[in-house]
Amino acid sequence: MFWKILYATDFSEVSTKALDYIKELRSAGTEEVVVLHVVDSRYLEYLLYDAKRSLDAETDMHRHARAALEPVRDELAQVGFRVSVRVETAVPFLEILRIEEEEKPSLIVMGSHGKSNIKEMLLGSVSAEVLRKSLAPVLIIKR
Ligand code: ATP
Ligand code: MN
Repeated sequence: MFWKILYATDFSEVSTKALDYIKELRSAGTEEVVVLHVVDSRYLEYLLYDAKRSLDAETDMHRHARAALEPVRDELAQVGFRVSVRVETAVPFLEILRIEEEEKPSLIVMGSHGKSNIKEMLLGSVSAEVLRKSLAPVLIIKR
């Protein structure tokens, strides 16, 4: 049923926890996982006004993300999934929804919270927006 998963990660504890659940879905028939990290374009803009330095920062962040996603790819491939890794620069929730349109996953997996992980929040803003607007079912792993 959930043959293709879109897994969005910000490398937070909760989104890393979601990985264990994805691995369990191999035996339930999931074949493919698209792993997505979005470098927040608003953060890049805030960080640096200088266009050239901003470009350097973006390259750096992509390189970091790629490196951090390598063990994730290996871990998933080990279990027998076909894995692709995507790193994009955009507004995270918008980009997750755009990639959903492109990849047409049968399930989106994400954490209830991410890097901010505010105690009083029921859901982070990214998971709330994706949950609200996605077409695919969403599996939200709680912290
Ligand atoms: P907020 O960002 O609203 O301050 P938060 O950081 O606690 O709150 P979210 O950002 O909504 O919570 O994170 C929830 C889940 O969304 C994460 O566990 C992850 O699966 C996904 N996510 C968040 N940011 C990104 C990102 N930049 N790229 C890919 N997935 C992300
Ligand atoms: Mn966040």
